[in-house]
Amino acid sequence: MQVFESASELSTFLGKQRKDGKTIGFVPTMGALHEGHLSLITHARKENDLTVISIFINPTQFNNKEDLEKYPRVVEEDLVKLESIQSDVVFLPDVKEMYPEGVQSEKLDLNGLDTYMEGKFRPGHFEGVATIVKRFFEIIKPDRAYFGEKDFQQLLIIRHINNSLNLGIEIVAHPTERSRKGLALSSRNELLNPEEKEVSLIIPGTLEWARKNYSNYTPSGLKQAIAKRFENAFPKLEYVEISNSENLEPVHSWNEAEHVRIFIAAFTGKVRLIDNVSLF
Ligand code: AMP
Repeated sequence: MQVFESASELSTFLGKQRKDGKTIGFVPTMGALHEGHLSLITHARKENDLTVISIFINPTQFNNKEDLEKYPRVVEEDLVKLESIQSDVVFLPDVKEMYPEGVQSEKLDLNGLDTYMEGKFRPGHFEGVATIVKRFFEIIKPDRAYFGEKDFQQLLIIRHINNSLNLGIEIVAHPTERSRKGLALSSRNELLNPEEKEVSLIIPGTLEWARKNYSNYTPSGLKQAIAKRFENAFPKLEYVEISNSENLEPVHSWNEAEHVRIFIAAFTGKVRLIDNVSLF
């Protein structure tokens, strides 16, 4: 396993690999790796000759300073995990390497995809995500890049950037990996104690209930029923949204879109959790 900290050294190394006809996969992460990340990486390794995994906690995508400060940082453990699944190349840049001209987001056209849900509740979050992923794409120039459906809105925004900037990268979606009990795996779960993890199961439980029962409700009726389920729960519901899977526009009747997903964000104490599933 080769570890790079310098963007230019990584770029030179990958240039040589590309010349030798090797295909390059890319999996961006913020570390504190769990089985969700590892299965994303295994997916990428199957489809490419060489896979680059980045670990970088991107400051511009945190709208909340405390969230950035308490984000788990366990690079040594991450490297052991990456080694154990025979990873090829790890990129561990520091902030200066990724933001040589100062830590700020670029103004990129996100086609309004950032006006809903995470974009609404975390102002500036997606500008930060788009800026850093674009920079990674420029350094790594992957053939394929892999993103989890757990962050479905992010996945659509990356697809949009790839298309609008004509980057020609294949953006591959990977299904959400869950704990045995159904909680979507997330680095933020590390911040929950066992009891908090248990009560957080209301999130996947509610999504699963919605998947089975949505046709008995209108979309707004379903949202109300879900808000009610959370009324006396410990995780506090931040939003529930029912949206067209192609463009994230909220749907008001079931025949408005060919594919529809339901999204939830909730706080278990100070820890913010998000999850989503496809309804159809
Ligand atoms: P993060 O480290 O949280 O920025 O996530 C890095 C990548 O892993 C993103 O593409 C996420 O969508 C993906 N990811 C995170 N959690 C999961 C999960 N439970 N299942 C599948 N992919 C995930």
